[in-house]
Amino acid sequence: SWARIRGRLRDEVGEVEYRTWLRQMTLASVEGDEAIVHLPTRFLRDWVRSHYGDRLSLLWQQENAGVRRVDVRVGPQPRGGADGVDVEVAPERSGLAEALSGRAPRNAAGESRGEWSAPLDPRFTFDTFVVGKPNEFAHACARRVAEHPASPGFNPLFLYGGVGLGKTHLMHAVAWAIRNGEPARNVAYMSAEKFMYRFIAALRSQSTMEFKESLRSVDVLMVDDLQFLIGKDNTQEEFFHTFNALIDAGKQIIVSADKSPSDLNGLEDRLRTRLGCGMVADIHATTYELRLSILQAKATAAGVAVPKAVLEFLAHKITSNVRELEGALNRLIAHANLFGRAVTLDSAQEVLHDILRAHDRRVTIEEIQRKVAEHYNIRLTDMSSARRARNVARPRQVAMYLAKQLTSRSLPEIGRRFGNRDHTTVMHAVSRISELMQADAAFAEDVELLRRMLET
Ligand code: ADP
Ligand code: MG
Repeated sequence: SWARIRGRLRDEVGEVEYRTWLRQMTLASVEGDEAIVHLPTRFLRDWVRSHYGDRLSLLWQQENAGVRRVDVRVGPQPRGGADGVDVEVAPERSGLAEALSGRAPRNAAGESRGEWSAPLDPRFTFDTFVVGKPNEFAHACARRVAEHPASPGFNPLFLYGGVGLGKTHLMHAVAWAIRNGEPARNVAYMSAEKFMYRFIAALRSQSTMEFKESLRSVDVLMVDDLQFLIGKDNTQEEFFHTFNALIDAGKQIIVSADKSPSDLNGLEDRLRTRLGCGMVADIHATTYELRLSILQAKATAAGVAVPKAVLEFLAHKITSNVRELEGALNRLIAHANLFGRAVTLDSAQEVLHDILRAHDRRVTIEEIQRKVAEHYNIRLTDMSSARRARNVARPRQVAMYLAKQLTSRSLPEIGRRFGNRDHTTVMHAVSRISELMQADAAFAEDVELLRRMLET
């Protein structure tokens, strides 16, 4: 249904992007093989067309084999807003109904072979995957499997980690690499959900033999988000048999989940055991360094000059996952392009105000002033005093810098809290401290330490 497509879109692009661009999208109609969606303005229509058009079509195709094209138009909004209203597609048009009827769904990616595979995202390759401490092991395993599928010790490869940390990206990267290197290999990537639908369809149409045979002709099987099979006992059972047959035949299996095999409660024990007997690789939560490298890579790829301070600020503030981070950066880039203005720390804070508020750690300016004064052994009142002696002025600048980095207050607001100083004074303090941190590693460490103390 449309609700599910929207849900998946939201999962894929992240809450931030979804709310920015897609929330107001409504389903107008489905005519023949074309779905028509409406957005309220031309700007949104153009944006969604160029940035999400392909994605939307793919999702529709995955969900509903009958629809091949999605047309985005400007159109009226139903009363009550898009999120409240949902037009259901007639059941016979839904992918599940089609699957249940036993008709072979048309191939989503329009590929001639690998009818098992869901389409791969062209952006998810090894080239675009940024490697850092939290994902280097998983990345190395994925590389290894891409180069030598089904090598002992790496089969199955079980990737796990929290949402938005790159599991799907890595799986697609392996699939692309194998397809490009050895086009004859039959690489099938699918979500666990899709696996289940196909299996149910086969059951209903009494074609389970066909189902099994076609699956076993696959050389590399990737099943994403296996946690979805928890509680789906029949499907688990079928997956278990497929799994064993493929492994015995020397085929590569890659599975992802949000938890390690041993933590996936509700998974059959024997399946759990088999899943854990190849290589198990954890993608850890991102670190500041990784977030910064990812932002740098994405800004460079987008060809937009984003000042280092802005990237640092984002890497610092948006710690949840890579998807949210990307969403924030994309919004910044969109605004910069739209208004033809350069991205600055200030404009970033303005444009991303709602997201930043949500990620605010609620450090107050008072706290910052207190901690910094304590650290440099000066009086708290000197944070607001007119004294300009270096031993007082420098800590004050550090506090201003941290206030800018750790809170979502504007420059004038910060200035006011430091003895009614002008916003240019704060701006100067921020850039001065950045410079000093670049030039003096010991000083940088000192400021970082303060930052960390304030955050925890
Ligand atoms: P998961 O499947 O673990 O929920 P995804 O693979 O869908 O996460 O990743 C979410 C988004 O973040 C994708 O757009 C992906 O390209 C991006 N991403 C995640 N990790 C990285 C990375 N290390 N380098 C570049 N992009 C990344
Ligand atoms: Mg995923």
